[in-house]
Amino acid sequence: MKRVFSFGNGVAEGAGLGKETLGGKGAGLAEMTALGIPVPPGFTIETSVCADVSRGASLDGIRAEVESALVRLEHDADKRFGDAEDPLLVSVRSGAPASMPGMMDTILNLGLTHEAKAGFGHAAGERFARDCRRRLISMYGDVVLKVPKSKFEDAITQAKLRAGVTSDAQLSAQELRALCTRYLQIIKKNTKRPFPEDPRAQLWGAIGAVFQSWDNERARSYRRLNRIPETWGTAVTVQAMVFGNLGDDCATGVAFTRNPATGEKAFYGEFLANAQGEDVVAGIRTPHPISASGRGDSLEEAMPAVYAQLLKVREALEKNFRDMQDIEFTIERGKLYILQTRNGKRTGFAAVRIACDFHDEKRITKKEALTRVDPEQLSQLLAPVFPASEKERAVAEGRLLARGLPAGPGAACGRAAFSAERAVEMAQHGDAVILVRAETSPEDILGMAASQGILTSRGGMTSHAAVVARGMGKCCVVGCGEITIDSRYAHLMAHGKTVTEGEYLSVDGTTGEVVVGKLPTRPSEVIQVAVEEKLKPADSRLYRQFARILEWADEVRRLGVRANADTPRDAHVARAFGAEGIGLCRTEHMFFEEARITAVREMILAETPEGRKKALAKILPMQRGDFVGIFREMGERPVTIRLLDPPLHEFLPREPKALAATAKEMGISIDVLKGKVEGLSEANPMLGHRGCRLGLTHPEIYEIQVRAIFEAAVEVAHGGRTPVPEIMIPLVGAVAEFTRLREMTDRVAHDVFRETGRRVTYRVGTMIEIPRAALLASEIGAVADFFSFGTNDLTQMTFGFSRDDIGSFLPQYLEAGILPYDPFATIDFAGVGQLVAMGTQRGRAAKKNLKVGICGEHGGDPASIQFFHETGLDYVSCSPYRVPIARLAAARAAIAGAGLSRTA
Ligand code: ADP
Ligand code: MG
Ligand code: MG
Repeated sequence: MKRVFSFGNGVAEGAGLGKETLGGKGAGLAEMTALGIPVPPGFTIETSVCADVSRGASLDGIRAEVESALVRLEHDADKRFGDAEDPLLVSVRSGAPASMPGMMDTILNLGLTHEAKAGFGHAAGERFARDCRRRLISMYGDVVLKVPKSKFEDAITQAKLRAGVTSDAQLSAQELRALCTRYLQIIKKNTKRPFPEDPRAQLWGAIGAVFQSWDNERARSYRRLNRIPETWGTAVTVQAMVFGNLGDDCATGVAFTRNPATGEKAFYGEFLANAQGEDVVAGIRTPHPISASGRGDSLEEAMPAVYAQLLKVREALEKNFRDMQDIEFTIERGKLYILQTRNGKRTGFAAVRIACDFHDEKRITKKEALTRVDPEQLSQLLAPVFPASEKERAVAEGRLLARGLPAGPGAACGRAAFSAERAVEMAQHGDAVILVRAETSPEDILGMAASQGILTSRGGMTSHAAVVARGMGKCCVVGCGEITIDSRYAHLMAHGKTVTEGEYLSVDGTTGEVVVGKLPTRPSEVIQVAVEEKLKPADSRLYRQFARILEWADEVRRLGVRANADTPRDAHVARAFGAEGIGLCRTEHMFFEEARITAVREMILAETPEGRKKALAKILPMQRGDFVGIFREMGERPVTIRLLDPPLHEFLPREPKALAATAKEMGISIDVLKGKVEGLSEANPMLGHRGCRLGLTHPEIYEIQVRAIFEAAVEVAHGGRTPVPEIMIPLVGAVAEFTRLREMTDRVAHDVFRETGRRVTYRVGTMIEIPRAALLASEIGAVADFFSFGTNDLTQMTFGFSRDDIGSFLPQYLEAGILPYDPFATIDFAGVGQLVAMGTQRGRAAKKNLKVGICGEHGGDPASIQFFHETGLDYVSCSPYRVPIARLAAARAAIAGAGLSRTA
């Protein structure tokens, strides 16, 4: 079987074979060659060989094929490899099916042996030959012979000192010659062997080492982070060298066919005259723009003919690949060569604009446009922003405090507060606040809501702080282990810097950076149009393109998208982003509001049912008011309201100061209060007295909630709208739990209908979040109107993991490959996912038109959404700010299901 594919002189054996076989780089070179774009000739060894090398097999199996490809390359390049007079030099380049920028190795100038050097020098100049040679020796020494790079760096630094110059380019032929000698000594000393001067030995050494670079540490961790399978492997391309460093009619550069930050249709790139490939990226000299900028330093002005040729290449590439390309090019004595092309990485802003523009240019269909925007990227369009220049300046000034996990995208700036109460107080004084905690708990909700941004030193991407912040659309950095927080003295420390309460912090939730001091932010344009309604769509191109992508998504998706929304404000945001209903309204969040928490505590502390009823009577009108607001906002769209879920002790204070204050407020002694708190405390609250268990043992709580819901619905219906409440019973594990609470709900509903003389349509359903409920889905399905999978609890209970403590071992589990990914972020397809599939199937077998949705965090995760689409759910529900992401992800799931590749 053929495993080596030549390209050159307009012919490419591998054209059409694709990235899986040839790697991205090899495939791009083959395609470009076939298109007639100038590419130095070469050949690519396919990715399957990499697995053999990883397994320790020798390269003997491909030796003959490589030799004959080399003969062909010599013919195409019209030079011989190893020739003493005019040698062919080659590069050996890595290239995986997925882009892994800078993670693997490439070696240049192979074949420049001691013997070939003089001949090469005749053709290209002696100084140049020595410069190429020292690059070869150090690269080969580093990549193949594993001599620490720093040894070569030290040697060149000393050479420059001795010569009294500052840049590599100023070293003379003589000095470079001495440097080469020094490099050869370094190799001899470190490897106990001389540098290989046989061209074949150099070539094979390089091929083997580049294949092995697939397994280096940084490539492995990059793959883990980006979920690139270990089995793919890299391809290796051997290619004739071209030189951008032969003089002033030479150059090297990189370019994007469109602006990768904004998506603007402008040729965007940088170049360096008289330089070799790596120099541009390495930042050795400041590169110049390729397109004229009025400063007279552009490639367009310096080499207009080459620039015109580049423009043609740009057009041909976009036409062929039908996407924005990122290219590397080199100009040797006025002749242009393209060395690489790939789909360019881009920001969310650019992705949306490029997708729309390519569609308008009639190059791609709407469906293809949808596959060009990663749903996750849309969150960038919603987040407030730090202007880039401001952040760069702060970092340059040494104001970077630490880095954590970017849990909630966006930019926030405010005064540090070290407790939720202080955050609320400071916010009431009109201050912007950053809440800084070791970790957060439900007690901190108000403080979180009052803050601009949240910073924690512990916890991961699914910690309480992260989940709640994302739900609120707030900027959040978690797990920032470099900082030490002392909330008693209200300060934090990191790297010798101290920040005390009231001092300014700037938090970048998109990158995880935390900066001391104030950086200005502005709300995103999309938010200004959609939510704040301060800007008109006509005035924001960004918004219009965002909206177009989502309209196209709505045309193809089958899965419904609802939002998890607890307040009228959440509901407004949800609507603004196109939610088709509310899939989860958590009533307890309303209980934490200041005016109510007192009444809630009265209810909990009451000694008699009468006392409880009295307190609940205070809560009723407040809850009714919330529901009225939500129903008004949502109109005819369904609103799923979950009855009280958390255990009661979550509503009681814990800290001594707060205990004292509450005791005073309630008119009871602190000891009685403490006794009560102790009495309610549980060994394992996650499995405790909560959800429907609470509803069955304290019936008056659920009754008052149901009453508030129906009174609100009737009131809104009176105003001419027809709200559709869906009462959701949490934590059901036994059929009787559900049937009894359903009876209660029906009874209270009919009471309200009788009292008011009006009725509304409603449904009663349950969350499926205890594995037993999934097992009994046929029985429960027979009596419920809908299921909503609560995948947070379902994951906790199926794995027996507590979401809040998982941080102590999950990182190790992931590192060791015991779990492939965090099951709280992406649904565990193999286990929890099967419960969802089975529950859906059994439920629908019992009731054909049973509505089935999901309302866990997974509802906003694109990979999970794909699974829910395939499983046949009716809708997903996610936090309001993730609704656009879910709409796009649902569309992409539908497209993938219909056969158009997701990566197309
Ligand atoms: P990476 O994947 O890290 O970008 P590349 O294989 O693209 O690695 O090569 C690194 C650098 O060397 C690039 O700047 C590239 O343009 C340059 N380079 C690679 N092969 C050649 C060649 N045959 N002639 C000239 N420059 C080359
Ligand atoms: Mg490259
Ligand atoms: Mg739950």
